[in-house]
Amino acid sequence: AAAPARAATRRHAAATLSIRSEISYVMIKPDGVQRGLVGEIIGRFERKGFKLVALKLFQCPKDIAEEHYKDLSSKPFFGALVEYILSGPVVCMVWEGAGVVKSARKLIGATNPLEAEPGTIRGDLAVQVGRNVVHGSDSAENGERETALWFGKDALVSWEPALAPWLIE
Ligand code: ADP
Repeated sequence: AAAPARAATRRHAAATLSIRSEISYVMIKPDGVQRGLVGEIIGRFERKGFKLVALKLFQCPKDIAEEHYKDLSSKPFFGALVEYILSGPVVCMVWEGAGVVKSARKLIGATNPLEAEPGTIRGDLAVQVGRNVVHGSDSAENGERETALWFGKDALVSWEPALAPWLIE
């Protein structure tokens, strides 16, 4: 147990110096909730080794869905996309860790599930772009923006996973 204890001490020192590592806003969309895929999807991020710092089941109001997808507001599918997000509860999460934004996008897979690689969430669990079960921030900046939008400020839980020394040297 000596090595993990040393790693924990080093990490604690680092944590007190830096604000926090990157965060990704990940959301299980209404189809994922209705299809009973919540445990499956959360499990993939847990098993990968990222740290869960916020989680809620949420019936989204229209203004949040529109703000979240505002960059797509000129697309022909924008109305249907907002309806889809409002069509049932979503599971909102924030995952933290070095490199989490890019890695979460890899775990999630391509936007079109038919193009998504097997082994990814969309590649394994979905068939259509309009029912692609999960969202993940596309940049660290959007990870911060989307977290503030869906959770508000200061909603993240600060905690030290007991397994951290077995995941990060
Ligand atoms: P991603 O979710 O992979 O970051 P985008 O930001 O391009 O993808 O699109 C956001 C969401 O809009 C997609 O996840 C999907 O639900 C929906 N969407 C994207 N393109 C289409 C499309 N051509 N038809 C219907 N819905 C789409």
